[in-house]
Amino acid sequence: MIVQRERAPPDLVTVGAFRYHEFMMITENVKTRFAPSPTGLLHLGNVRTALFNALLAQRSAGRFLLRIEDTDQERSRAEYVEALQDDLRWLGLDWQEGPGVGGPQAPYAQSERSTVYARFYQQLEAAERVYPCFCSPAELALSRKAQLASGRPPRYAGTCARLGEGERQTRIARGAAPTLRFRVPAGQAVEFGDLVRGAQRFSSDDIGDFVIRRADGTPQFFFANAVDDALMAITHVLRGEDHLANTPRQLLLLEALDLPAPRYGHLALIVGSDGGPLSKRAGDLSVRELRASGYLPEALLNYLARLGHAYARDVWMDPAELAANFSTEHLGRAPARYDEAQLLHWQSEAIRHATADRLWEWAGARERVPAGSGADFIEAVRANIRFPADVAFWAERLFGAELAPSDDSKAIIREAGSAFFEHALAAYERHGVAYPPLVAELRQLTGLKGKPLFMPLRAALTGETHGPELARILALLPPETVRRRLRACH
Ligand code: GLU
Repeated sequence: MIVQRERAPPDLVTVGAFRYHEFMMITENVKTRFAPSPTGLLHLGNVRTALFNALLAQRSAGRFLLRIEDTDQERSRAEYVEALQDDLRWLGLDWQEGPGVGGPQAPYAQSERSTVYARFYQQLEAAERVYPCFCSPAELALSRKAQLASGRPPRYAGTCARLGEGERQTRIARGAAPTLRFRVPAGQAVEFGDLVRGAQRFSSDDIGDFVIRRADGTPQFFFANAVDDALMAITHVLRGEDHLANTPRQLLLLEALDLPAPRYGHLALIVGSDGGPLSKRAGDLSVRELRASGYLPEALLNYLARLGHAYARDVWMDPAELAANFSTEHLGRAPARYDEAQLLHWQSEAIRHATADRLWEWAGARERVPAGSGADFIEAVRANIRFPADVAFWAERLFGAELAPSDDSKAIIREAGSAFFEHALAAYERHGVAYPPLVAELRQLTGLKGKPLFMPLRAALTGETHGPELARILALLPPETVRRRLRACH
């Protein structure tokens, strides 16, 4: 029986035939990894996996590694390898070992590690834990269909497990390219403590012999993933729940290879806002798209760190705080539901916490805003913006040559009457940007206070009935603009 214990003695030890890392977080050198397959852009789902692993490493003063799982030659693309690194860097999820950084187990792209894997195929061959399989995809599909039709779970029927050495050699001599299958031992219980889902138990009898090397010589996922985790000394693996059924296979493989296994935690998947699978309409968004639409990385981090993980306090946290307060114990088992309103909430929070310089860079509204007023402008509109388009809107509203007031504003201006604006202009000429005395004087001249006093002023100066603080607007607007806009209402 394979049992992965909750807590193991220090360092690597052997328990039965199985070796373990020391799992006590305080003394252990925690090392986590993100191991994406570069078959597409990073989406909310896989980037959350990256984040959780990065947070776990960071909070344990450990290391975070990036490994590119590009063994599927047909679906892997170099541009996705680039894109995912770029996206991770943009999010601030830097890796301490991996592509571009290097490390003791380089290379970090699985397509470049075939010589590493060759050693382990040989080890398994020598121990007769694997055998070549000559079954064609068509034969396998047929067998699968037959098993399903008779109500059995589809599993490799074991056809090639029984071939004699002579028969194998003959087929190879005839030019057949076999896959390499792992011989799953019969009657074993495979148990492990999942970091999220608790105790797990599988029977090896439910697992058919599985392919570890494809006919073209490339490694199969189970194999390369497990071998690399062991060689790269990964201690904790947080990954999607869709991999849960792979874990017993990987533990069996590691046992056969006498390699240490990491602790696994399988994360509940993210579902769309409609409760169904993530879809284009309901939350299946790439980091690229979110970035292009103006989300700030810290907003995504604050949102994703709470998607299936609970913090005691629901307040804004910077990346270091997100890490310090992260715990695998707070990972939920229930599917996490994508909620755009929450994402928008964290975007507003990110804007509230960003420096004016940063927002100025992000907004790209340069042309409209008078030179030297960038920071003041950002401070004025900070509470009214969520995306660069909002910044552009206010830049146009405040500094555009032509002001076309909204219908509401027009009504308010009309109602206030031209005398109001004559007084406003007089008060402005007297006090300029000194807002309190200006308002005091206008109050005196018009006998108005509160909304009836401020609204017409706002409508005349910005063409809107809501927006940034009037005092800030007045200070920002060039005097000529203030005069022109007040006069236009006479
Ligand atoms: N390449 C696998 C994936 O992208 C990695 C699975 C794992 O994290 O172990 O799903």
